Amino acid sequence: MNLENRVIPRLLCTLSICAFTCFSSLAMGQEPAEGDAMFAIVIHGGAGGNPAEWTEEYREARRAGIGKALDRGVKMLQSGALALDVVEEVVRIMEDDPVFNAARGAVLNEQGEHELDASIMDGKTLACGAVASVRSFKHPISLARKVMTETRHVLLMGDGAEKFGKTQGLETADPSYFRTERRVEQWRRWKSKQSTSMHEQNKPESYFGTVGCVVCDTQRNLAAATSTGGLMGKRWGRVGDSPIVGAGNYADNGTCAVSGTGIGEEFIRRNIAADVAARMRYGHTPLSDSAEQSVGTLPENAGGVIAVDAKGNMVIECNTVGMSHGFADSSGTRAVRLTREK
Ligand code: ASP
Repeated sequence: MNLENRVIPRLLCTLSICAFTCFSSLAMGQEPAEGDAMFAIVIHGGAGGNPAEWTEEYREARRAGIGKALDRGVKMLQSGALALDVVEEVVRIMEDDPVFNAARGAVLNEQGEHELDASIMDGKTLACGAVASVRSFKHPISLARKVMTETRHVLLMGDGAEKFGKTQGLETADPSYFRTERRVEQWRRWKSKQSTSMHEQNKPESYFGTVGCVVCDTQRNLAAATSTGGLMGKRWGRVGDSPIVGAGNYADNGTCAVSGTGIGEEFIRRNIAADVAARMRYGHTPLSDSAEQSVGTLPENAGGVIAVDAKGNMVIECNTVGMSHGFADSSGTRAVRLTREK
């Protein structure tokens, strides 16, 4: 890897940490008086890819998708909704949007089929639910929530998850609903590279678009939700980090809520989402430093995280060039970006 490739992603991170540090201290400086409704929300539409190489139409579609989901989340929070309800609703909106790699618009596995993963976690109770390799639910995140509330388990996969979901009256769809021309085209490109190395297959264009949302609600509850189609060309039956509690998704009112995106295997190896929380809990490290340190343990171009703590501090940290995201809070801050800075 040449030096330029190593330096640019880190430089991007440093710049945007400054922006977020300013914002974070602003949020902390504006600690609301008792009774004031304070909230914060951060969402992502996946890391990977280089926005500079996308068409303006595609960039705009991503900005619009994030903006729409973000504004819905803000509206809910303004009317006092709970963090758990907000993260589910925001992720549902992004699951409906074919521009993102979650539910409708999911990437395709090695066989050219979709397999969907999702998880949700309530920071107040540590209750969580997840599903892996499901195929027919329009909103895998709602299925994950049903696993959390209607079973004594945390993670259901494949046929068992499908069977359970059908008893819960959740909306289903045919495979054609999930499949978009863009993904078929990307899959063909991936297929044509199959003689190349693993490194080539893991380059940023092979993963992007996973969605996630973290929220601190007006009662200072935290929640996190993440939903994905996984990695383009993944092996049939492969499960990534998104439905693994602690790896790609985590929430604990005592520390933070985190949603990750990137090469799931790297997140699982390092338990990234729980690692951010552990640095806060045991090292008493602030949220932004914890996220920076955790992402700093990932190989370059592996992905990033969004996170929020119970003071309303918000963080985006990644070591990829692109990471579509949006954030907003009760002070009126609102931004939608495709990279760390713009
Ligand atoms: N983390 C996801 C996975 O590995 C993919 C992504 O975030 O784009 O399944």
